[in-house]
Amino acid sequence: GRVIDVRNLSKRYGGTVAVDGLSFTVRPGRVTGFLGPNGAGKSTTMRMMLDLDRPSAGRVLIGGRRYRELAEPLRHVGALLDPGAVHGGRSAYHHLLWLARANRIPATRVRRVLELTGLEGAAARRAEGFSLGMAQRLGIAAALLGDPPVLLFDEPTNGLDPEGVLWIRNLMRDLAAQGRTVLVSSHLMSETALTAEHLVVIGRGRLLADTTVREFVAAH
Ligand code: ADP
Ligand code: ADP
Repeated sequence: GRVIDVRNLSKRYGGTVAVDGLSFTVRPGRVTGFLGPNGAGKSTTMRMMLDLDRPSAGRVLIGGRRYRELAEPLRHVGALLDPGAVHGGRSAYHHLLWLARANRIPATRVRRVLELTGLEGAAARRAEGFSLGMAQRLGIAAALLGDPPVLLFDEPTNGLDPEGVLWIRNLMRDLAAQGRTVLVSSHLMSETALTAEHLVVIGRGRLLADTTVREFVAAH
């Protein structure tokens, strides 16, 4: 279950058409950039991939299934959407342990993802007090917890220092090289070109291009 299949997907909020008949496929083994200006509909599309928002029309299938049909979803799909979403005064460690238990993920994975994200030293600290960069790392730790074949990252370099940006770029490429499906949104072509091999470009909720970065750059 590694392919994300977006079919005729639309979303309206009252009079606003956020996503307008989008169809595209995201494949494993490469980083796919999801590019478009602010307000283009990237986050809305990603939320619909995760069943956090209900489509007005169309559907998203991940490995042939809807997200809500996945048992233990964190073992199939990892996502970084909205950093700082940790509430209730839990430590980073306990937040991850709680997610692991809810998804039948072995507790040993908690240590592993804390290492992968460089958060070992901060594991006992309250996640609510984390800086944006650390919250971003914790969100990525949560996304990696279930060792999922499919990963969605919404603007993952937002608010990070240069070292953090380089770290995330390398991480995305490593995850894709391991054969995972990696979709990463950005409003910056310069950012996407440095990370992605393939591009899905949208504007006003519509598909503008679905091509390799190389071909897109050559054509523009
Ligand atoms: P992007 O992620 O590309 O910046 P979004 O998906 O966040 O774009 O937004 C697409 C459009 O949908 C924008 O016009 C935005 O204002 C609107 N929108 C997004 N979420 C909501 C919501 N919950 N209620 C109303 N409008 C929304
Ligand atoms: P519940 O409804 O079981 O409380 P939520 O949807 O509120 O679950 O998510 C709980 C936590 O899990 C949040 O911190 C959220 O950011 C995180 N989360 C949800 N889905 C994913 C995912 N696919 N990958 C990584 N983290 C996720």
